[in-house]
Amino acid sequence: MRHPGMRAANGPVLGRPMMRMVVMHGDGTHAPRVNDRSLPRQVTPGYEPVLTLANPTLLEQKRPMATSDVLVVGGGVMGCGIALRLRQAGARVTVLERSIPGAEASSAAAGILAPQWESEGPGPFFELCLRSRALYAQFATELRELSGVDIAYRPCGLLRVAFDEADHHHVESTVGWQHGMGLRAELLDGKGARELEPRLSPEAVGAAHFPDDHQVDNRLLVRALTMSAARVGATFRGGYVRGVVHEQGRAVGVDLDGEVLRADAVVLAAGSWSSLVQGSGVAPQAVRPARGQMVQLQTRLPLLERVVTSAKGYLVPRADGRVIAGSTMEHVGYDKQVTAAGLAGILDMALQLCPELGSAPVTETWAGFRPWTQDALPYIGAGPMPGLFLATGHFRNGILLTPITAKLVAQAVLGERPSVDLTPFRYDRGAQARG
Ligand SMILES: Cc1cc2nc3c(=O)[nH]c(=O)nc-3n(C[C@H](O)[C@H](O)[C@H](O)COP(=O)(O)OP(=O)(O)OC[C@H]3O[C@@H](n4cnc5c(N)ncnc54)[C@H](O)[C@@H]3O)c2cc1C
Repeated sequence: MRHPGMRAANGPVLGRPMMRMVVMHGDGTHAPRVNDRSLPRQVTPGYEPVLTLANPTLLEQKRPMATSDVLVVGGGVMGCGIALRLRQAGARVTVLERSIPGAEASSAAAGILAPQWESEGPGPFFELCLRSRALYAQFATELRELSGVDIAYRPCGLLRVAFDEADHHHVESTVGWQHGMGLRAELLDGKGARELEPRLSPEAVGAAHFPDDHQVDNRLLVRALTMSAARVGATFRGGYVRGVVHEQGRAVGVDLDGEVLRADAVVLAAGSWSSLVQGSGVAPQAVRPARGQMVQLQTRLPLLERVVTSAKGYLVPRADGRVIAGSTMEHVGYDKQVTAAGLAGILDMALQLCPELGSAPVTETWAGFRPWTQDALPYIGAGPMPGLFLATGHFRNGILLTPITAKLVAQAVLGERPSVDLTPFRYDRGAQARG
């Protein structure tokens, strides 16, 4: 699909003379050179060079982005969200997706938008999550207006249930530090928890209620984002990005199935596969897949109002009676199988929380890969070389973090001052404690 107003990423506006281009491998070694003779289809002879060290890029000169191109590697929520924001700012954007846009982690997720439940303490990451959650209601409205798709954003609240005293103390301390920050959180005993959720197990000894943690149907989100990005004029192109193309120390495009596409900026948003894109400078083990298995149950009558979680997992009730139950956390490479042990653990957790689910039919099972990083923080913003930007490693919170990441990465690409300090999310950060 190509918007009528778009031109090819290697088109005449950005035409450059034939220059030697290098496709770097991740470790900087074994860098095969793309022979100049192989490039005539990618460049238009006769145009003045735009990209040389002596003649810096349009970005560095802070000329309007409307005259530049951005290539986004990966069409998940990150890639589509960034494409949407960049295109709205006037940039010409192409999303490169090897499969179906949004079909990986972004579709596999549960859609919980829950900084307060997920967080282990205050800090920059917690702040980032809160900011993104605050953007969601408006984001949902905007996507509905652009795409016609309602992403089923439900401000339903979340109940974190404890089944023993030790766990209840843990929940109590979470409520305590969040009260200290002025956030809404309520500590309940078992009776109080069942008043909110009457189908909750009688074995629950207490719970924390986070009324501002919510949910969205992430599969609808994927559809809405893809449609919205396309509607505002982003181009989607199928193909496998083998590597980032460098020129004199700067990212100037990508190798898409052997074809070199050029752009002023490249955004790496390839989820759990980000470290496999050669020449990105992202270390081979920096982003790894963490498999999560999921089970969908179908109820006839609504059993739960809120997202309900325990130390072992979560239940996400959709408005149409589906209940999404998850998940596992496994480092098994790119093996996407659903296993007997995985399902047994999830179903055990589900029935412990809500015994009435025992009679609900299992209607779907699946697995997906969370883009895991060592410190559980994402990489957002400027990448290891000029012209390359990162939006990856969102691990368990990528659905939640979509609106803020899209905004921040677009700001970075456009040369604007990011509205959040991105230092804790830089690719070269040290080992920092997760906030
Ligand atoms: C089981 C599970 C439950 C989750 N639950 C939640 C939740 O409740 N709340 C929440 O906030 N988050 C949740 N997450 C996390 C969230 O889904 C991810 O953080 C988020 O979807 C990451 O989005 P992404 O766009 O970076 O990655 P992806 O959605 O994986 O997209 C990356 C895309 O890049 C493409 N790609 C990769 N390599 C290349 C290449 N070389 N060339 C071209 N294309 C390429 C892939 O095909 C893919 O489409 C969950 C994840 C899982 C797996």
